[in-house]
This record gives sequence, C-alpha cells and structure tokens, in this order.
Amino acid sequence: MNNIEFFVGDITKIKVDAIVNAANSSLLGGGGVDGAIHRAAGVRLLEECRRLGGCRTGEAKITNGYNLPAKYVIHTVGPIYSGAESDETDLYNCYYNSLLLAKENDVHSIAFPGISTGVYGYPKEAAAKIALRSITTWLSDNSGYDMKITIVNFSQHDYEIYQSVIGK
Ligand code: ADP
Repeated sequence: MNNIEFFVGDITKIKVDAIVNAANSSLLGGGGVDGAIHRAAGVRLLEECRRLGGCRTGEAKITNGYNLPAKYVIHTVGPIYSGAESDETDLYNCYYNSLLLAKENDVHSIAFPGISTGVYGYPKEAAAKIALRSITTWLSDNSGYDMKITIVNFSQHDYEIYQSVIGK
C-alpha cells in the first residue's frame, strides 16, 4: 500500500497529474463527480469531450484538465450496478485501464473517485474491494514505474468503508 494514499473531500481541488472522472458513456457530462469536474474545468473540457465520440463501459479516455489544478482528466465509464458478474469485471477494468492510459501519458500521480458508487448504485464496500484489487494488481504489474495513487473519498463515511476493507 506504499504508493496509495487517501484524501477525504473534493477531487476537483487536488493537484495531481491526472484526476479520474466517473463519466457516462456519452462523455458529455452529468451529475455527481462528473458535473463537479466539468464545472471546475470549464467549458473547454466539454468541447474536447465532444470530439472523443463517447466511451465504452470499463474503458478510459484522456483530456486536458483546463481550469483544474490537475493537468489531465481521465474519463472512465463504470458499470450501472445490476448484480451481474460483468459488473465486477467492468469496474476492475475502469481502474486498470485508467492506470494504463495514465502511464502512456507519463502521468505519475493520479486521483480516483469511487467509480459507480453514486448514481450507478454499486455497493460501496464491494466497490472498494475491487478498486483496491485492481490498483494493487496494476502496481505490481508495473512495479518499475513510479505512480502515486490517491483514493478520494467524498465523505468520512466512505473513508471508513475503505479502512474497514483494508483492515479485513
Ligand atoms: P457514478 O455515476 O459512477 O455512480 P457519481 O458521480 O454519481 O458517479 O458518484 C461516484 C462517487 O463520486 C460517489 O461516491 C460520490 O459520492 C462521489 N463524488 C461526488 N462528487 C464528488 C467530488 N466532487 N469529489 C469526489 N468524489 C465525488
């Protein structure tokens, strides 16, 4: 867990190379963290997103960060929770593919929100387990690469869920 730290609060305030957006497949903005990122980044983010032509569930695309303190935004589309086995694979892939794309763009610090744990309804404890499994697997698969990961919990309650998962 050496390369992983936690931040409780608003992901749009963090100065890292890239923040990850829990987007929807249109990439044209929405509520929750997506809305907050678009508001903070400014309208140029939406203009760049329009040119990307959407994104599939589990995949990731990168844009500039514009008015954000972060240099880039990595947009990934989490699964809408249904209880199907594919939800787990899709969520795992969101974290893994975001990290792969980050590395391709020479990103060395990245912050993740709780992908799919808002409107998309993924149970938070299960989502935290998958996020940690994906991130730690990526770190060990890319052990020669320096990557600092921040997991952003929007509330103290979400932070406590993560800490209980780590403690188990
Ligand atoms: P999804 O549609 O993928 O579920 P949401 O934006 O609805 O995405 O929620 C994803 C997570 O992001 C939730 O845990 C929510 O509490 C959190 N969140 C919402 N706004 C912010 C923010 N400004 N910074 C960090 N996390 C946020």
